[in-house]
Order: sequence, then structure tokens, then C-alpha cells
Amino acid sequence: MSESGTKLTCYKHPERETLLRCNRCERPICAQCAVQTPTGYRCRDCIREQQRRFDTSQPRDYFIGGAIAAVLAFAGSWVMTAVGLLPGFFSLLLAPLVGTAIVSLVRKATQKRRSSKLTTITVLFAGIGAALLLLPEILLSLSLLLVGEYSFLTGLLVDLADRLCRTALCHDPFQHERLLDSKELIC
Ligand SMILES: [Zn+2]
Ligand SMILES: [Zn+2]
Repeated sequence: MSESGTKLTCYKHPERETLLRCNRCERPICAQCAVQTPTGYRCRDCIREQQRRFDTSQPRDYFIGGAIAAVLAFAGSWVMTAVGLLPGFFSLLLAPLVGTAIVSLVRKATQKRRSSKLTTITVLFAGIGAALLLLPEILLSLSLLLVGEYSFLTGLLVDLADRLCRTALCHDPFQHERLLDSKELIC
């Protein structure tokens, strides 16, 4: 915080001359310490203090936010599956709606308290909620695929065995002779 004459030096780096001042606490700051905000340059201490005031979430908010997100995402993905196989387009329309509903409900439930942690938890639980319903479907389609592949393989094996038998029969010299015999008999 040393001011020698008209020259300002950064309050964190006294060896650095600067012309910048934090527009909140008015302390001189160097280019490295200055953080640009929509209202001008601020020092890192002021930014940190601002963020602390910004993070107003309480521990119970995380539970509320997580629960709302999971339930709504679950309901949303249920509707998506129930609406049926209106794919892509409708899901794309519905997904942001569900997302907006989750955000506004969580905000209401937590009385507009917020923090980056709460956002992360909300998004995480929304993902879990959505995946919960899709999980059996994924497993089902996976098992169907496996069963399908299995029967396909059995079919292939049966077909192969059949072909092998036929080929073997065709090359069976005795069968050929028998055929000749029967022809001779007919004649
Ligand atoms: Zn400041
Ligand atoms: Zn500095």
C-alpha cells in the first residue's frame, strides 16, 4: 500500500508500479492482480469476498437440490419413454423444459440460495435420475441384443451343420451307387 509521490504500486506487489485501482476498495493493483468484471477491475480479495457472499447455499440445500433434480429428471425421462418413440426432436424439446423446471424448482426450494457446489450436485443428480429409468431399458436392449445374437448364432450353427451333412451326403459314394441301383431298378 505504498504510494511514493504520484506513483502507485500494487498493494500485493509493492515492487510493481501500476495505474490500476480496484473499483471497490480503491487499492492500487497490478495487471496480474486485477480481475476484470462487468463493472471494472477489482482486486482478488474483493472478488473472493463477493463469491463468498454469492455462495449462500446451506448444507440442506444440497439434499433438497439433489432430491428435486433426481425426481424431476426421473419423471422427465419417464414421460419421454411414455410419450413413446417420438425420438430425437421431442426429446430435444423436452430435455431443456425438464432442465428449466429442475433449475427453477431447486431455486424456489432453496429460497434462491446458490453456489457452484449446489449447481454441480443438481446436475449430477439430474443425470442419475435420468439414467435410473434408462438403465433397465439399456439392460433390456443389451440382453435382447445378446439373446438375438445367440439365436442368430444357433441358427448359423444349425444351418452350417445342415450344409455339412448335405455336402457329406452328396459326396457319399454309397449314396451315389444306391441312386444308380434305384435307377437300374426302375429301368
Ligand atoms: Zn478490492
Ligand atoms: Zn499485484
